[in-house]
Amino acid sequence: MTKSTKKFETEVQQLLDLVIHSLYSNKDIFLRELVSNASDAIDKIKFESHSNMDLLEGNADWKVKLIADKSAGTLTIRDNGIGMNMAEVEENIGTIARSGTRAFMDNLKGKNLQDNPELIGQFGVGFYASFMVADKVTLITRKSGDKNAACCWESTGDGSYTIEDCEKETRGTDITLHLKEEMKEYLDEWKIRGIIKKYSDYVQYPIVMDITREEPVKGVDGKVIEGGGTIEKTTEETLNSMKAIWTRPKSEITEEEYEEFYKHISHDYDKPFRTIHYSAEGTSEFKALVYIPSHKPFDLFMRDHKKGIHLYVKRVFITDNCEALVPDYLRFMKGVVDSSDLPLNVSREILQEDVQIKRIEKNLVGKILSTLAETKEKTPEDYLKFYREFGPVLKEGIHFDFANKEKLQDLILFESSKTDSGNFVSLKEYVERMPENQKEIYYITGPSRSGLENSPHLEIFRKKSFEVLYMTDPVDEWVVQSLTEYEGKKLHAVDRGDLELDSEEEKKEKEAKQEEAKKQYQGVLDYIKEQLKDQVKEVRFSNRLTDSACCLVADQHGLNANMEKILKAMNQ
Ligand code: ADP
Ligand code: MG
Repeated sequence: MTKSTKKFETEVQQLLDLVIHSLYSNKDIFLRELVSNASDAIDKIKFESHSNMDLLEGNADWKVKLIADKSAGTLTIRDNGIGMNMAEVEENIGTIARSGTRAFMDNLKGKNLQDNPELIGQFGVGFYASFMVADKVTLITRKSGDKNAACCWESTGDGSYTIEDCEKETRGTDITLHLKEEMKEYLDEWKIRGIIKKYSDYVQYPIVMDITREEPVKGVDGKVIEGGGTIEKTTEETLNSMKAIWTRPKSEITEEEYEEFYKHISHDYDKPFRTIHYSAEGTSEFKALVYIPSHKPFDLFMRDHKKGIHLYVKRVFITDNCEALVPDYLRFMKGVVDSSDLPLNVSREILQEDVQIKRIEKNLVGKILSTLAETKEKTPEDYLKFYREFGPVLKEGIHFDFANKEKLQDLILFESSKTDSGNFVSLKEYVERMPENQKEIYYITGPSRSGLENSPHLEIFRKKSFEVLYMTDPVDEWVVQSLTEYEGKKLHAVDRGDLELDSEEEKKEKEAKQEEAKKQYQGVLDYIKEQLKDQVKEVRFSNRLTDSACCLVADQHGLNANMEKILKAMNQ
């Protein structure tokens, strides 16, 4: 194929413009991004080769090589990972494959980025970070197992790229950055060492560089010859320690190291909210280093959101996409689980059903929930920050994780008629502050707080000073189906027909009054019913209203109004 020039997807170009106009204050991270891609690519070939040795082409000396060429002004990042064919280059580099990136770009629309650089800082731009320091990037890559399928991609980041077939003897990818004039410092050995040490020390493969030093000339006996002068000697040095951070004792790991590893593994630019690092022994042996992020990713509620716990077996990478390690309602968790029990050649399909994985999951969930409980107990303000990001996801657990329902029901929070907007009450607090004559827990469902606040259903509750929980998340409909009582108190929707708010005396008094009214106004009720005929099931006197003249209520066994709306929207 001849060389062809193609345009970037619009979103890619927008992203590139942001990157090039340097919204990052920290340009060093371009190297972390490229090294992390190289390490991901080696992970992949390593895994694939478990089932197909031929892919290795006899080259399993894993490494990432950095080549700083001062005369050419280029820095090359070379890996012997899985490589890409032309279709993959186009897919991965020319378009935004990740739905999260697209959602992120949508989110940025209409915002003034110069004033909000942290917006982009929250998000990893991966490969495109190269354009912060380079005015031209050349990528030459060859997919493993296909000697004739090398390709060369090149771009100056100005709207288009070129792509063509080329020759490449060895498997893997070379990315060459033609550094901008003012970015030549990235060719300096000590600058590079510093960045690798800081951001990529724990990468499991050697990150190497040819280092040339002047050495005094030595004799055959290995001793320095006095006055013999110096010669230049080049050796390949490894710049990182390669120590898997999760295997090290907690006491030796600094906050900063934990943070850097989080950023490496999560592609997040923020600090994690909580770090959970422990070893499990007994029925299942594993080490886990997992993190609760500070912010929810943009694609948390999208169908193709990938979970972020990587699975290793005895320090060997297995997959970054082990669905079964955490339940869906904890899909925001990031980190690593390293098992000692699983076989190395475990297939991704089997993982889903594996009992060892199920044991790990159970243990991990317990640990995460207890960490959240502790946070809530000790630092409620902090917990609120977490809850504002992930509350609606966590609530899904009430419905889907029966075994942990007890724990979860103490972790979920609701706005209510007694909290300000954006503040919450837990079920426990709710029950504690119930007036003595209140017997049940009341809630109302609907799409927004302001809508609920105006509901006539609430009048009687205000009057009685009974607190009503506002359930405004779509998931709340499932929550109340599974959570029917708390500490022996039933959860009761305020718009259901069988509401019982009065004490015995109050009831008797009202009944008497109502009988009287009925006699007097039965004609009116009959008339209204006649007029509305097919639209209502019944028209009756109510003692639940205080200020409004009338309201609609659902049948005791029927669907409530909000659920009806949701089902209607789903075309049921
Ligand atoms: P991310 O790493 O978050 O997926 P990047 O922008 O860093 O996003 O990379 C985009 C994609 O390009 C990667 O997912 C991968 O498929 C591909 N890629 C990038 N660098 C390499 C590489 N060195 N070897 C193989 N594939 C790569
Ligand atoms: Mg990347």
